[in-house]
Amino acid sequence: MRLVILGGPGAGKGTQANWLSNHLQISLIATGDILRTAIANQTVLGQKAQAYVQTGELVPDEIMIEFIRYSLLLPDVESGWLLDGYPRTAFQAEELDFLLEDLQQRLDWAIYLKVDYSILKSRSLQRARTDDEPNIIQRRLQLFEERTIPILEYYSFRNRLLEINGNQTVKQVQQDILTALNSDA
Ligand code: AMP
Repeated sequence: MRLVILGGPGAGKGTQANWLSNHLQISLIATGDILRTAIANQTVLGQKAQAYVQTGELVPDEIMIEFIRYSLLLPDVESGWLLDGYPRTAFQAEELDFLLEDLQQRLDWAIYLKVDYSILKSRSLQRARTDDEPNIIQRRLQLFEERTIPILEYYSFRNRLLEINGNQTVKQVQQDILTALNSDA
């Protein structure tokens, strides 16, 4: 199965993506985690991404697209994958489809964790990451609205969107994701 998971900062993407990739036995590619590790290790990718990640800005599309192309060509993702944090822009979503076309693969579903704005804000504020300071959170929420929300229409138009109520408990969200995958698969 090939999946992407979408949602604002604090939507619970990371939690659900970890669980779901284990449950389905597919590779998890979490771009935010990969970038934070790359920055800590000062790899070439980390050095390119650092200024953006630390201020809550989006890393330029070209850098992310190149990285995803590389990741999806690795042999360990052959049994399927779940992307957490990618795509973040409509351009990235289109490029992902072009890449999959080249690879003769197809995205099964885009899972959208829909969470109220006030909940996104309070959950993000409770986290203690350096890119979760209040003014950076504000910027991340703004970028989510401006750049990521338009992707929903892209996937909805292609009948690839599963919308899940992410305001609920972790367990309930898990249950709803499974039900949606099973009933629509
Ligand atoms: P996340 O942990 O998914 O919230 O990502 C943390 C940060 O990594 C974001 O605020 C961006 O700076 C960067 N990032 C992660 N994924 C992407 C992406 N697909 N496109 C651009 N920037 C990204």
